Amino acid sequence: MILDYHIHVVAHGEYPYTVEWLEKYINQARLLGIDEIGFSDHDEFFHNIDLNVFAHVKKQNLDLPIKLGLEMDYQPDLEKDIKNTINLVDFDYIIGSVHYINGWAFDHPDFKHKFQGQDIDIIYQEYFDLLNKAVKSNLFDVVGHIDLIKKWGNRPIKNDVLTYIKPVLENIKDANLVVELNSAGLRKEVREVYPQYEIIELMKRMDIPITLGSDAHHPEEVGLGLDKLVFLAKKAGYNDIVSFDKREKFFRSF
Ligand SMILES: [Zn+2]
Ligand SMILES: [Zn+2]
Repeated sequence: MILDYHIHVVAHGEYPYTVEWLEKYINQARLLGIDEIGFSDHDEFFHNIDLNVFAHVKKQNLDLPIKLGLEMDYQPDLEKDIKNTINLVDFDYIIGSVHYINGWAFDHPDFKHKFQGQDIDIIYQEYFDLLNKAVKSNLFDVVGHIDLIKKWGNRPIKNDVLTYIKPVLENIKDANLVVELNSAGLRKEVREVYPQYEIIELMKRMDIPITLGSDAHHPEEVGLGLDKLVFLAKKAGYNDIVSFDKREKFFRSF
C-alpha cells in the first residue's frame, strides 16, 4: 500500500478549507492510485480546519481512507501550548517538525541568506538539538522532514550528518516514533528527499519505522516523488510502512 500523509489543504493560508478544495486533493490521490491519504495542515492554520468539512469528505470517499493529521511546529518554550492544541481534536497522527532555530525561519526563502557566513556545523548541531527535544517531548507520532536543515544545499563540513543525527535516531527508537520519508526536498534547491539515503539505511539498521509524505501545498503536488521514496525505502530493506488511526500505529506492507 502507498500513502501520502503530509498534505497541506490551506497551504500557508491562501486556500480555503472547503469540500470542493479537499476533493481536488482526494481526486489527485485517486488518480495516482494512492491507497490512503492524510491531511496535515500546519498548526498555525489550526483554526482553518473545518471538522464538518473533513467528516463530510471522509464519508463521501469511503474507497479512499482519509486521515486527519497535524504538522506541529516544535519550539521548546511552547510545549504546553502544543499539548493543548493537540488535545482539542481527535487527530489520527501528529507530525512534529522543526522550522525555527531561535526564532530564525531557516527553511523560509526570505531568510536563507542567514546561512552565509555562519558556522554550518554549529547550525546543524543546533537544529538536531532542537529535534532531539521534540523527540523527547512525548508529543508527536511522526518526525517531519528530519534533515530539513539541508534544504538550501548547506552541508556540514567538520562532521558527517550521521554524526549529528545518530543520537536523535536513538531517542526516536526509544520513544517508539515513526520517521517520515518526505519528497519535498526533490522540489527544493537540495534536490534530494528527506532524509538522504544514508540516513534511511541507518534507520533501517536501527529498525525505526517509516511513513511517507509529499508535503503537498497544492492538489497537483499530492503524491509527487512518492515513487522515489518507495524506491529508496525498498533499497534500504524496508518492507512495510506505518498508517495511523487515532494515534495508533498499524504496519502495512508495501
Ligand atoms: Zn514542515
Ligand atoms: Zn509540511
